Amino acid sequence: MTASILIVEDEEQICKALKSILTDASYQVFIATTLKQDEIEASTRKPDLLIVDLGLPDGDGIILLHNVRQYSTVPIIVLSARDSEDSKVVALDAGADDYLVKPFGSNELLARVRAQLCRRAILPDKQDSSAIVLGNVKIDVPSQLITKHDEPVHLTKIELRLLQCLLQERGKILTQRYLLQQVWGPNYVEHPHYLRIYMARLRTKLEDEPANPKFLLTENGIGYRLAT
Ligand code: CA
Repeated sequence: MTASILIVEDEEQICKALKSILTDASYQVFIATTLKQDEIEASTRKPDLLIVDLGLPDGDGIILLHNVRQYSTVPIIVLSARDSEDSKVVALDAGADDYLVKPFGSNELLARVRAQLCRRAILPDKQDSSAIVLGNVKIDVPSQLITKHDEPVHLTKIELRLLQCLLQERGKILTQRYLLQQVWGPNYVEHPHYLRIYMARLRTKLEDEPANPKFLLTENGIGYRLAT
């Protein structure tokens, strides 16, 4: 089955480029050039993934993110010329799964698309899988036993909670604010140093080379992502 992708973008050149890259990679592609058209296309086509521009003629793509997230968990990649950290954080907090700045490379775009589709594919049977593998780390889900190179690893409550948050949204960029809120609670969202300290501890315990992490990845200035 071919995955279908809805592009919401008003710039004709970019639409053409995206369509050709994605069609060549055997995806089925639909295009909407306005928020209004997106609503219609998204409801009739039921795409497997959305690629959304933020600057649309009849409104901001952020509105679209909020709207879609009220009824769907479909993966959304934002593609925007806005490259500030603030813009990325706003889009991710509004429900985007990933953020790509224009101009983009076709290989990078395809890699991000694959990661999001794969994430969605592995989500439904997440509960059934009894073991999760991260590099040389294995997590036995029923017993919560964690081993690295077959040696048991002990995580504190906070470290475990942080790892669980990353696992629940594996492949997605999670903002610092989101993680602080999930792990420590709403009073801690302005304390990113907590997160830095605990991420460093998790890497020391789980990564082979904590300074060069393979799965506990940093998204500079934005947050973290667990590699798929
Ligand atoms: Ca635009």
